[in-house]
Amino acid sequence: MNAAAGLNVEYLAMAPGRGEMRRDASVTFADDRIGSVGAAEGQGKGLLAMPALVDAHDHVRGLHHIAFGARDQTFEIWRAALYAQPPIDLYLNSALAFGRLARAGVGSVMHVYSSIKVDRLAEDAEIIARAARDVGVRLALVVPLRDQQTLGYGNDAELLRLHPAQDRDFIEKTWLYPFPSPATYMDLVADIGRRIDGPTVSVQYGPNSPQACSDALLAAVAEASARDGRRVTTHLLETSIQRRWADETYPDGFIPHLANLGVISPRFTGAHGVWLRPDDIRIMAEQDAQIAINMSSNLRLRSGIAPVGDYIKAGMKFSFGIDSFSIDDDEDAFRELRVGHWLFSLDASPAPLTQQLLFDGWHRNGFKAVNNRDGYGEVTAGAPGDLVVLDYDALAYDLIDGMIDPMEVALTRATTAHVKDVYVAGRRIVGDGRVLGVDLDAIEREVAKAARAQGERMRALKPMLERSQHTLGDFHARWRGR
Ligand SMILES: [Zn+2]
Repeated sequence: MNAAAGLNVEYLAMAPGRGEMRRDASVTFADDRIGSVGAAEGQGKGLLAMPALVDAHDHVRGLHHIAFGARDQTFEIWRAALYAQPPIDLYLNSALAFGRLARAGVGSVMHVYSSIKVDRLAEDAEIIARAARDVGVRLALVVPLRDQQTLGYGNDAELLRLHPAQDRDFIEKTWLYPFPSPATYMDLVADIGRRIDGPTVSVQYGPNSPQACSDALLAAVAEASARDGRRVTTHLLETSIQRRWADETYPDGFIPHLANLGVISPRFTGAHGVWLRPDDIRIMAEQDAQIAINMSSNLRLRSGIAPVGDYIKAGMKFSFGIDSFSIDDDEDAFRELRVGHWLFSLDASPAPLTQQLLFDGWHRNGFKAVNNRDGYGEVTAGAPGDLVVLDYDALAYDLIDGMIDPMEVALTRATTAHVKDVYVAGRRIVGDGRVLGVDLDAIEREVAKAARAQGERMRALKPMLERSQHTLGDFHARWRGR
């Protein structure tokens, strides 16, 4: 462990979004927490620090989707391209994504793991946790749970029959694994918890999405979460097609149905929430549940723009996620922060996103969603020891002194390139823009090489993928535009 003594900065955002910017500050760590905040006359010049960012929804894909041909398009059709995801060494693939996020200033990551190979999940969880610990980010591993509708919003056997005969065998072998019972799934989550729970790693229940889970499975999750206190993360009303499916399947109300099952609780994070209606949002707010907003993902997959003005009006909590779909496909967290800031603070919004709400999302609520802990978002003694330090001099290259608040400069210009150091739980995990725990450049080269080595197999799969995407496009068209 690189236990850090402390740091000096010219600007310390003690409580970002709440206006306190302290000049010439010194921060020390005491174990995994902030030890003290004091004065540091003239040292740390040109640096700006704030609490590290939280990525409250991600899939930790080191090899980006586009590398294996899954181009951006409507979510339901894009998803079929994941058939072709080439097997890459899990440790390297995870360490690559964690490392990129750390380098971008992220201290905590919600990893919504999406393997369907249930018999390997416990072993996979250990590998993923090792990668997170080596990089140094905090991790919530969301254990994937599903027991229906793997191929789309319908019966899998029927959907399989819609595919050309020549492709059925491959799709069945690649995707249609037999599902365990709810009780087996709950035992699996407990087992994974025993294996990897620790000071910076925790485990959550991860019903992939309500449409992929039977009521029996959702009820088991609600009951287990109420008993053991683990949080629940699921994808929730990401697309218009999901909204129509939900309205048709639950005429008495989809969100009320989930609330009745006990799934929606203060321990609940729904990812996306693009198609929530004001009534749904009220239920979410009443339950003190939250949504992890994924702005760039929703743009890239044509899903829409989350009704954040309605969230704000209802007082519903929200955080932000990158979802392995950042705007430039590079995990640049500060750019994501900026996209959301712009998209949801428009003048015409009934409740624009203020700086305070923006940082509540990227700090306080996100930390709660990932780590199930309160008390994050301010740099004070006793707070979690997670900080990101920006090269403010580089951001401020043309500024006239005294004309602008440094936080405005960071919000307008900061990118991964400006991240100098990152501290998590008092440990320096990024130094001078380099990830310290793993050799990120070497891992990136190795992952790309391993992917390209499967080129022949991948290119042979391409026509099958296109046929499958066509089939799924036709199938889901019944819900489109109604
Ligand atoms: Zn997701």
